[in-house]
Amino acid sequence: MSALSIVPYFPFARVKVAQQTVHLDLPKPGTFLRLEPDQRFRPLCHECGTAGSVHSHGLRRIIRNLDFGPARTFLQVEYRRVWCPHCQKAKVEQLRFADPSRRITHRLAQAIYDLCKVMTVQDVADPFELDPKTVKAVDQHFLQQGFGRTDYDGLSILAVDEIALRKGHQYMTVVLDYLTGRVVWMGEGRSMETLDVFFAGMSAEQKQGLQAVAMDMWEPFINRVQHHCPQAQIVFDLFHLVKAFGEVIDEVRREEVRKADTQEDRQYVKGSRYVLLKNRQNLRPAKRVRLRELLAANERISAGYMLKDPLKMIYHYRSRAWAKKALDPWCERAEEVDHPAMRRFIRRLRFFEYDILNPCDHAIGASPLEGVNNKIKVIKRRAYGFHDPEYFALKIKQASPGRKSITETG
Ligand SMILES: [Zn+2]
Repeated sequence: MSALSIVPYFPFARVKVAQQTVHLDLPKPGTFLRLEPDQRFRPLCHECGTAGSVHSHGLRRIIRNLDFGPARTFLQVEYRRVWCPHCQKAKVEQLRFADPSRRITHRLAQAIYDLCKVMTVQDVADPFELDPKTVKAVDQHFLQQGFGRTDYDGLSILAVDEIALRKGHQYMTVVLDYLTGRVVWMGEGRSMETLDVFFAGMSAEQKQGLQAVAMDMWEPFINRVQHHCPQAQIVFDLFHLVKAFGEVIDEVRREEVRKADTQEDRQYVKGSRYVLLKNRQNLRPAKRVRLRELLAANERISAGYMLKDPLKMIYHYRSRAWAKKALDPWCERAEEVDHPAMRRFIRRLRFFEYDILNPCDHAIGASPLEGVNNKIKVIKRRAYGFHDPEYFALKIKQASPGRKSITETG
């Protein structure tokens, strides 16, 4: 037997490699392997795996395999139809190395799935010269198997958040296990009905297990949490509060842009969104100078901006009474900024005051939301499934499996 046999590279059960042909004259070199059924075995039904008798011979199909060296590799597979005693029907024979609905081997499918974890569908499709639709279908199939089911087990503190697929248009709701950072569920929209779908899959016992839900000051979410798990405290955590306050500062900034006298001033304030919303510690020196100049030049923006850190400080209190003592003067200072967006924010703050101070009771640590939001941004940028929210949701669940919770690692 030749030591140069290629057969060991194709250890597929129940078939034998009958012939190999290499074509070097194609636009790209190609290897064709003819696979025949190994007559020593009875064929299996692809549906249920039961061994049956041969119903008909001579069916053929070409299945793409992983490339062999520089050559595209195709399997010319001969297979049979089997009379399945279990299904009581003639069925296609099971091929261990490929799915009957696909024209690629499991090996190639696995490689595609692995690459799709870090690359775009298009970038994976190009070198293989595959249709991007095929690549996406393979990735989605594996994702569905791994992440399609919602795992409601062991949840005690949740975070509910919304993300915009297209700004101002299409929203999705994300539910996160706050203690581990795992994305538990994602659904289209951000309405009461959206959260109803999430809660519908939960048992009464699992709902009872929820102690707190962190979220934005968004009424539909508040309403549904109070309805489905009234014992759970609603918590406006630091992450959401800072996010909401960032939007207030941005509204103040936008109005200052409109009011600016000269074109130069307008451009200056207009380009300052980033420095205002970003954490000061994370700004590069040049941007810090920019921020300092802006705050010196515009009193109103400065007054709003200076409220940011004291607002965060309220979250460091572990006593509700002390937190309230800090919140009252904060609101007075915020009134002085004299802006409708700020007044709206204060009104909501006052209305939800009890809930805002809930973090004092639930010592919620660093929010995993920021990390998850960053991952979402990366996946969005890679343009995965913008037009397919289901695929997008699976990608995000895959990217955010969560770390082990404190209780688990015990
Ligand atoms: Zn069967």
